[in-house]
Amino acid sequence: MSRVYNFSAGPAALPLEVLDNIRNDIPDWQGTGMSVMEVSHRSAEFIELAARAEANLRKLLHVSDDYAVLFPQGGATLQMSMTPLNLAAPGAAADYVVTGSWGKKAAGEAKKFCNVTVAADASDRNFTYIPDPSEWQLSDGAAYLHYVPNETIAGVEFHFVPETDVPLVADMSSTILSRPIDVDRFGVIYAGAQKNIGPAGITLVIVRKDLLERAPDNLPHLMTWRAYAESDSMTNTPPTFAWYVADHIFRWLLAQGGVEAMAVINERKARKLYEAIDTSDFYSNPVSPGARSWMNVPFILADASLDKRFLEESKAAGLTNLKGHRSVGGMRASIYNAVTEEAVDALIDFMKEFERNV
Ligand SMILES: *Cc1c(COP(=O)(O)O)cnc(C)c1O
Repeated sequence: MSRVYNFSAGPAALPLEVLDNIRNDIPDWQGTGMSVMEVSHRSAEFIELAARAEANLRKLLHVSDDYAVLFPQGGATLQMSMTPLNLAAPGAAADYVVTGSWGKKAAGEAKKFCNVTVAADASDRNFTYIPDPSEWQLSDGAAYLHYVPNETIAGVEFHFVPETDVPLVADMSSTILSRPIDVDRFGVIYAGAQKNIGPAGITLVIVRKDLLERAPDNLPHLMTWRAYAESDSMTNTPPTFAWYVADHIFRWLLAQGGVEAMAVINERKARKLYEAIDTSDFYSNPVSPGARSWMNVPFILADASLDKRFLEESKAAGLTNLKGHRSVGGMRASIYNAVTEEAVDALIDFMKEFERNV
């Protein structure tokens, strides 16, 4: 067997231990004589799995009983629609802070349903910084304030939680479980799974229970957070295999020492990589130092004509998915929880070697 170091932005690397456990489980899951993909979501075994996954997620992020934990489908993108539909009456105001492509997309979607104010927009500097919160133009009586704590494409991360009097909604797709968060500061947290939770197909929504009451009764059932809360996310057949893998990931994270332990490793991985970039004239990262992401690290080669060769040679060296997003150019290394420190060290060694050889 040969495994590569996978720096994909998503779907992203999964821990090898988890993959090994899954492989062993597949033919006969928990003595059922079936794989988990073949059992009913209403079976005692699956209901136990679902309850354990929720309990472990609550343990990892210290989620209190004031919050519901939901596992819908549709990814983070569907939550960009469900957020205004569940929280804002038509015509109500909602504020969006746009620090990257995902925030922009979320604001664009919400405009179909409510009265969106873009309170701050970092596109003037190609999404390389976080506008100072003292300059945000917040509207009066907004139903909520939406932001993206980690913008996956430009690699811009908030290292603070904005202060606000209205419910704070966060798209945490690419930062969830990478470090501790104070859930009580948020009204809603949502995340697609395929970065730090598991395979694509399942979504995590953590929503303060009082906010569940805001949704109008005529909202489609599967678009209503309340419906998931009332059915333990078994509103319809859930993505059982993705849920099962997420359960493995949560257990793996607890065994690593939880998100507190991951944060120490993640901070170190990111620091090493930015250091390697900053100490070279050959590589650069355009993001303002205080806003650099721990999870997604874009870097540009001084000579863009070498991009193709960098990608070919890195791939030959077992380092994959380093091509940057077209809006940024250059390279991007996504270094989520399952990307080991060893992988980051291998990338840094390769970058130095490549610089020496060209
Ligand atoms: C990946 C990503 C998305 C899109 O997620 P889907 O699950 O594909 O809908 C949205 N927001 C952020 C911040 C992301 O990183």
